[in-house]
Amino acid sequence: MSSIAFIGLGNMGAPMALNLVKAGHALTVFDLSPNAVRQLTDAGARAAGSAADAVKGADIVITMLPASKHVEGVYLEQDLLGQIGAGTLVIDCSTIAPDSARKVAQAAQARGLEMIDAPVSGGTGGAAAGTLTFIVGGPQAALERARPVLEKMGKNIFHAGDAGAGQVAKICNNMLLGILMAGTAEALALGVANGLDPKVLSDIVAKSSGRNWATELYNPWPGVMEHAPASKGYAGGFGVDLMLKDLGLAAESALSSRSAIPLGELARNLYSLHSNGGSGGLDFSSIVNLYASERD
Ligand code: NAD
Repeated sequence: MSSIAFIGLGNMGAPMALNLVKAGHALTVFDLSPNAVRQLTDAGARAAGSAADAVKGADIVITMLPASKHVEGVYLEQDLLGQIGAGTLVIDCSTIAPDSARKVAQAAQARGLEMIDAPVSGGTGGAAAGTLTFIVGGPQAALERARPVLEKMGKNIFHAGDAGAGQVAKICNNMLLGILMAGTAEALALGVANGLDPKVLSDIVAKSSGRNWATELYNPWPGVMEHAPASKGYAGGFGVDLMLKDLGLAAESALSSRSAIPLGELARNLYSLHSNGGSGGLDFSSIVNLYASERD
């Protein structure tokens, strides 16, 4: 069993870290929020006073932070890489800009540390169930070292390519997710405005050609799926501002590669309007509230 430092215990990091504790690994954890740390210490993890304290003596360091600035802030600006012992494997599971992932990976390599980017898909439900998909960028040998630990948190592990490639694939996936969630919300609002029951319409779509991850597992309409964030006041889940970040990363990737992403840009504008209206902290399926006039 490995000694693992886990930094970033939010909606995703906490359930992922809990699965590692349950698998018998010795976890030392750190988060800026004491409440986030408490759930892990209750389960048997050791709390560290800082990220630098957490990585002392670790075989593996895992980070699950919101965005590029946090990952670069921790590893480079706070020089966490300089505190990590030789031979330690570094795994960043956050969704960040591919260039940031490459920059941190190069800095890790320069210090003799193996590092992979391993962003995830599957949502908070997948994180709790240990069924996440890991999308890895970096050396194959480092992925093989990480695999036994990733398997305790996920079911599917893909090697997308070199450092940063995991992030490119993840950004493409999330652009599609943002478009599909907005489209699902729009279709449900249209049906309800024309007299349909949202549950009946959702059941029909889930078995018809419009089905997608939202209609199968994450319906945006309140009351349709008991366990979806929509039925819990859009609390927890995947924040609107995190989706907005990912659609921004897609826009940056499109600019740098001269790609056209008209639907991705439209989705980014929809989530931006929604966030600016005060919903940035809600789950992203609350985009359905942009169509609220049809619901009233
Ligand atoms: P979150 O905002 O719930 O959690 C982030 C955590 O990081 C918070 O607890 C915060 O206190 C902590 N943190 C921030 N800066 C820190 C620092 N310097 N040191 C220590 N801790 C720090 O976010 P989340 O939903 O868990 O998402 C994390 C990452 O995973 C994001 O990049 C997101 O895009 C990605 N992701 C999220 C989901 C989802 O469904 N929520 C799914 C797939 C991928």
